[in-house]
Amino acid sequence: MIIPFKNIKHYIFDLDGTIWTHTDLLPHADYVIQKLQKKGKNTHFITNNTILSRDGIAKKLTHMGIRTTKEHIFSAGYVASKYFEEKGITEIYAIGEHGLVADLSEAGIKVSENANNVLISIDRSFNYSKLKHATDLINKGAELYCTGISKYFRAGTELYPAEAPTIKAIETLTGKMPIHLGKPSDAFKSRISEDITLFPEDVLIIGDDLNEDIVFANKCGFKSALTLTGNTSKEAADEATSMKKPGAVIRDLKEIITFY
Ligand SMILES: [Mg+2]
Repeated sequence: MIIPFKNIKHYIFDLDGTIWTHTDLLPHADYVIQKLQKKGKNTHFITNNTILSRDGIAKKLTHMGIRTTKEHIFSAGYVASKYFEEKGITEIYAIGEHGLVADLSEAGIKVSENANNVLISIDRSFNYSKLKHATDLINKGAELYCTGISKYFRAGTELYPAEAPTIKAIETLTGKMPIHLGKPSDAFKSRISEDITLFPEDVLIIGDDLNEDIVFANKCGFKSALTLTGNTSKEAADEATSMKKPGAVIRDLKEIITFY
């Protein structure tokens, strides 16, 4: 299927492996976004990475030459915070970093050692005592959530453990699996459709991960393009079926504006 990229009104970009490697922009990312914005297109960004708050992500993108504001950022930290706010959950024991804590506190959610809800996220200071504390809370009846289920995230040329190893450790001890609030979850879909009015035929999601980005696009009824600049090989993209099948496969973001 060839996607008429020119007719798209809303371009939703994944970040890791699509726009940046955290340390650097991927080829043409700034040029392509600037071009789309000049044409009056709406550009939004989605990520399960919670190291930065949504405000922090917007500032970092702007600093790198991609002008945006936090209202255009849908991070799993933001989605989780709004989810808890809407459910009336006011306290969370969070395994995560400053960006996640900032998003939670902006939604009025207190990070507490005595919460009845545990949230697993990327935490580069994860340790034995955090594992014990989360386990104790769950064994006392706390509910368990996570912002992603990835094994790794990439920063520059390095791979870092993401949420999956922590989920596995807690599952080993408690037998409990978390409710996933990052993409491609229903919570993520609901957040986007509550915050912005979208007609599915006008929306394109561009990402590097079949399980997260392409499944998410298909679940929402949006068009999708898989970029080969991150997690996925051309062979894997061509072999994908059903909900994982992308609408298009592109070498890098420049292909989106080929016909502009
Ligand atoms: Mg990605």
